[in-house]
Formats: sequence, structure tokens, C-alpha cells
Amino acid sequence: MRTTALLTAVLTLVPAALTARAQTAPQRVLIKAGRLIDGRSDQARSNVGILIEGRRITAVGPVAQIQAQAGDARVIDLSGMTVLPGLIDTHTHLLLQGDPTSASYDEQLLEQSIAYRAILGARNARLSLMHGFTALRDVETEGAMYADVDIKRAVNRGEVPGPHIFASTRAMAPTGMYPIISANWELELPHGVQPVDGVDGARLAVREQVSHGADWIKYYSDRRYHFTADSVLHSWVNFTAEEAKAIVDEAHRLGRRVAAHCIGSDGIAAALRAGVNSIEHGDGMTDSLMDVMIKQNVYWVPTVTVSQYVAGPRGGIWGPMAAYQRAAFGRAVKKGVKIVMGTDVGGFPWTEINQAKEFEYYVQYGMTPMQAIKSGTSLAAELLGQEDNIGSVAPGMVADLVAVAGDPLKDITELQRVAFVMKEGTVYKGGSGRE
Ligand SMILES: [Zn+2]
Repeated sequence: MRTTALLTAVLTLVPAALTARAQTAPQRVLIKAGRLIDGRSDQARSNVGILIEGRRITAVGPVAQIQAQAGDARVIDLSGMTVLPGLIDTHTHLLLQGDPTSASYDEQLLEQSIAYRAILGARNARLSLMHGFTALRDVETEGAMYADVDIKRAVNRGEVPGPHIFASTRAMAPTGMYPIISANWELELPHGVQPVDGVDGARLAVREQVSHGADWIKYYSDRRYHFTADSVLHSWVNFTAEEAKAIVDEAHRLGRRVAAHCIGSDGIAAALRAGVNSIEHGDGMTDSLMDVMIKQNVYWVPTVTVSQYVAGPRGGIWGPMAAYQRAAFGRAVKKGVKIVMGTDVGGFPWTEINQAKEFEYYVQYGMTPMQAIKSGTSLAAELLGQEDNIGSVAPGMVADLVAVAGDPLKDITELQRVAFVMKEGTVYKGGSGRE
């Protein structure tokens, strides 16, 4: 049911231009790929033809065979390149422009209107698409209310270019446990989340967010991170067990999955007890928590790029936490935890670092290049419940494709130099056969 709901959301919001085209004759495109990494297979294939009709892929195979059935299809020659599925970043903040310090965070919420922030959000959506990201899970607006749903709507209607967006709207934390918090109790300040208290409040908040367009529910499981003498990263848990369970239960009842921000081991453990679908950040991951994640089929979205980015400006515990996470990541790869690509872009500026930097960290931290690619394609699609639509190159899938000049299996940083982007059969970047 959950998959169906999300799938319907994607399918019903086809841009008007594509719908109009589909009513006449679907546009046929033949892509000649020098090398194909399809997102699911363990091996790359050479000289592959990809036939696209309208917004979907209809055939994939040896280029001569596909060409024979392509008829008068427009040809896009990528025979000197490596073609991959469109990349998927499952932890983004379109409405945030970097918050390495609390001052930089507060300034955005206090000095910028939501309208201005939404304009920057649309800019970020375009930038992300041009970097090869054809789908994002945006995990909360940081005080910008439901503006993520507005950006998604504008993209889906073809008003602005951008990826498929899976929106989480406002996220949740209990009263007093998320910024902005001031010592001056006279001030009414904007909240970075929807403050939520009590079991009934939790269910009401989920219903409100879903009614305003939330595809996902996000909540903050912990805060106040600290190491103890036994080198375990601990934290203070935000919600009571009953509140967290109510959030997860209500979200699942309404066909939505749940992402939990957890940094310390206590926050991760509490979120796993509540039954969430993904652990965000997870710096304090332990071997026993990894075992629970595998058993409960929970995904880990480690957001290494932001950990590395904020370690310097924030100082203190943030550097040791990043080092701790690196060690845990290596063990999790060996154990077979489902690690899905997510950067926390918005925590660092969209304009400064290409999100594909995350793949480079994953290889440095212990994944093979192919494992890293799957974490940001087929496995990410699985987390989103979209494995029948996006994240791989196969007949029936949405035609979301990227290409790079070199071989990312030899040099993963190739993914930071995407030269061709197609989303839903429309070319947004590169392509010799561009209309
Ligand atoms: Zn985040």
C-alpha cells in the first residue's frame, strides 16, 4: 500500500509538456552507451542500446539489436561515455543554505522570508539536477513550513527544472528540544521543526503534515551528544517511547515511511525500538545496533559529507564523532547493513560542494565503487519504495539517466563530473542529439 501511494504521487504529477506529448506520439530516443552501469548488476556492460519512449525505458540490450528495433528514433550518442541511472540523494534540505554554526542557521530563519528561501530552494533543485541527481528525499524545511511541497509541485508542473522530490515538510521534535531557542522568553521565535508533545499531539502532527503533502515523516530522536569513558557515543533521547511509537504508527497507518535523526547510540536505539525505516547520520552506530538494523530491514543514511564539513567550524566533539562514524561505517559494510547515499546538503552550501562527493567518502570508508553507486541508485530507490520506477536502467523504468566521460568503477570522483542528464526522457544537460 505504501509503495502504491508513493508511486501514484509520482505518476500523477507528470509535467504538462510530457503529458501533451504522450497524447500525440511518444517521442522515441535511442541512447548508445559506451559502457552501462545499470544500478543493479555487479558488472558494467559495453556497447549497450537504451530505447526510450516518452518518459519510460522500453528496451535495453546490445546496441545493434536495440538499433534494429528503434526505427526512426532520435539518437543520442554516448558511445564514448559511461551511462548510469540518475543519482538519488536521500538526505537533503532544499530550504537551507549551510549551517556550520548556530548563528548561520538562526540568520536564515530570522532574516529571510519563506518566499525568499523558496526561491533559493528552486535554485538548489536545478543545481542538483545539473549535477546528475534526478531524485531527492528532502528531510525537512527547517522552519520554511511546507515550501518543499511547493517546490516539488513547481518541478512536477514543469515550471522549474528539478529532480523528483520526496518531501518530509516540517519534521518534529518536542517543545524546547530544537532551535531556535533564546534565553529571552519574551521573544516569539520561528521553530526549525513542528514542536510536538504527547501521543495525541504526535498523531495530529503526522496527520497535518500528510494532509499538506508530506511523502515522508521525519523526527529528531536525540540531542546533546557525548562520549563516555568506554568510547560509546551517547545522547539524550527527545521523545518518550510512547510519543515516538505514535509518530511511527500513525505515519505507517497513512502509508508513509519514517526517517529519524539520530547521532548517539541512545537515539539510534530509541528510533529502532519505535520502528523507523531509516536512521539519519547514525554517528554512534554500534555492532549490536547494526544487528538490529539488519534484522528489522532498517536503512542507514550516514551523511558523511556534512560530518566532514561541520567538524572544523563546530570543533569540540564533531571531529571525534566523524572519526567514530568512519570506523563504524567500515564494520557496517562488512556486516551487510543497507547503507543508502545521503549527504545532508543544505547543512553545507549547495553552491560549494557537489553532492556526489559523498560517493568518494563511501569508497574511502570501505565500499567498492559499485557498492557506492548502488547506495545512490537502486538501494536508494528501495528505501523510497520506488524500486519499480527509478534507480536502475531496465525496461519499464522511468528514463532518468546520467553519463560521465570516464569509468567511475576506476575513479569514483567521475560522478562529480556528470556531463549528461536526462529526467523522465527529457534531456537537461549535454547530449549531442539535443532538440
Ligand atoms: Zn539533515
